[in-house]
Amino acid sequence: MIKNNRLSKEQYANNFSDIHPPFETKDAALVEANRCLFCYDAPCTKSCPTSIDVPKFIKQIATENIKGSAHTIFSSNIMGAGCSKVCPVEKLCEGACVYNLMEETPIHIAKLQRYATEIAMQKNWQLFQRKPSTGKKVAIVGAGPAGLSCAHVLSRNGIDVTVFEKESKGGGLMTYGIAAYKVTPQFCNDEVDYIVDIGGIDVKYNIELGKDITLAQLKKEFDAVYLGIGVGVARQLDIPGEKLEGVVDAIKFIYEIRANGFSTVPVGDKVAVIGMGMTAIDAATQAKRLGAKEVTLVYRRTEAEKPCTDVELDIARLDGVEVIWLAAPQKIKGARGKVKQLVCSVMQLGEPDASGRRSPVDTGETFTLDVDMVIKAAGQVPFEKLVGKLKIQNTKGKISIDENCATNIKGVFAGGDAVNGGKEVVDAVQAGKDGAAAIMNFLFHAKKQS
Ligand SMILES: Cc1cc2nc3c(=O)[nH]c(=O)nc-3n(C[C@H](O)[C@H](O)[C@H](O)COP(=O)(O)OP(=O)(O)OC[C@H]3O[C@@H](n4cnc5c(N)ncnc54)[C@H](O)[C@@H]3O)c2cc1C
Ligand code: SF4
Repeated sequence: MIKNNRLSKEQYANNFSDIHPPFETKDAALVEANRCLFCYDAPCTKSCPTSIDVPKFIKQIATENIKGSAHTIFSSNIMGAGCSKVCPVEKLCEGACVYNLMEETPIHIAKLQRYATEIAMQKNWQLFQRKPSTGKKVAIVGAGPAGLSCAHVLSRNGIDVTVFEKESKGGGLMTYGIAAYKVTPQFCNDEVDYIVDIGGIDVKYNIELGKDITLAQLKKEFDAVYLGIGVGVARQLDIPGEKLEGVVDAIKFIYEIRANGFSTVPVGDKVAVIGMGMTAIDAATQAKRLGAKEVTLVYRRTEAEKPCTDVELDIARLDGVEVIWLAAPQKIKGARGKVKQLVCSVMQLGEPDASGRRSPVDTGETFTLDVDMVIKAAGQVPFEKLVGKLKIQNTKGKISIDENCATNIKGVFAGGDAVNGGKEVVDAVQAGKDGAAAIMNFLFHAKKQS
């Protein structure tokens, strides 16, 4: 049965506590910092999409120069505090650490990054000063990681920024999408405040491009526009039974947990989660932590093709989530309007295509799972309608940009999930930096055309 309030207050608090806890003492951080080999040509820095100088910030921690360390991190990544909690480091910086080659535990880079940035945020050290005003004004649409990172770089360079955000809070999916045991809503608010505190950034909430404002207005009132609108809508399964009570979108499910608190969000006894990306893992793990008795991840390909990392899958498995590979949902059956069963096709891998990839093909066999809740996590679809209405060149809603982050409309730039279709926070932060550099080039160096 789907119901809320399944657990005690203490159980909820325990289940949703920090999945990667910080160092307990300063000494523990110093010991870890001193394990670093400070590699020349550091592979960790190369593997960080924002190119944080990892050996430098770790050395600064080792020498107890925390302010310097935070400055090194934030210079490359103004969301370095958030990234230290949410980056899939096993495939980024920590995955590249040379200790892996020696079959030893890699340096806990994210934990050290968290150590320095948390102190900086707690002490509200403002480590950057705005340059004198240039008189230029830029509009940014979307207060997610891409928009905020772009805003911070522009503001640092003396440009006045106005951010238009359709939600009532900033942070984008960091605030509304990422699992509560990785970042809390309070942390996300604090991070947005910390970024905006530099000054020169005016965030206007509850204003939606395409509804409350138009691109033409923004183009008229500002010297340039940056679109960091992310990807929005959950992909539908397009199978019978999708409208039954008990079938929910993963993003909506996670959003409810973050926006309304654990005890208010209803969860079933037997839950099937469709997909195997980070969103699917987060939804499955959180369903279990909300008190579901059985949670099963259903994925149409094999483990070798899964989009999530091994570490993420381990988190779900350790929480008791079951996994069924090579199974494609075929229909959802119900009784009296409510979900009762999920029927899946048994798949097998077909012949390799030109790229060597073997797509799953239906064997004709099926199996049935008894469930009372189905969570759809089959990916997100870009804002195709909005982007089309804005007359911006795109591929199925994914905004097309050139090597200067420019769209087909002069003075309009874009980046983040809206362009790449959905990656990680750290990629969006880098996209925001690239966008800001391109906008400054456009404002101050590019030859003006009539
Ligand atoms: C469930 C889930 C879990 C994830 N977990 C992780 C994780 O653990 N680690 C990780 O690194 N990444 C994770 N990601 C991915 C990460 O959240 C995104 O890659 C990142 O937030 C993208 O940043 P962005 O600024 O491009 O877009 P978004 O974060 O989506 O921000 C876009 C902003 O634009 C606003 N907006 C949209 N349309 C309009 C409009 N018309 N007018 C005004 N404002 C508008 C939105 O409200 C939003 O605030 C996850 C994503 C999801 C969905
Ligand atoms: S931002 Fe992420 S990928 Fe880059 S060094 Fe920090 S934790 Fe690693």
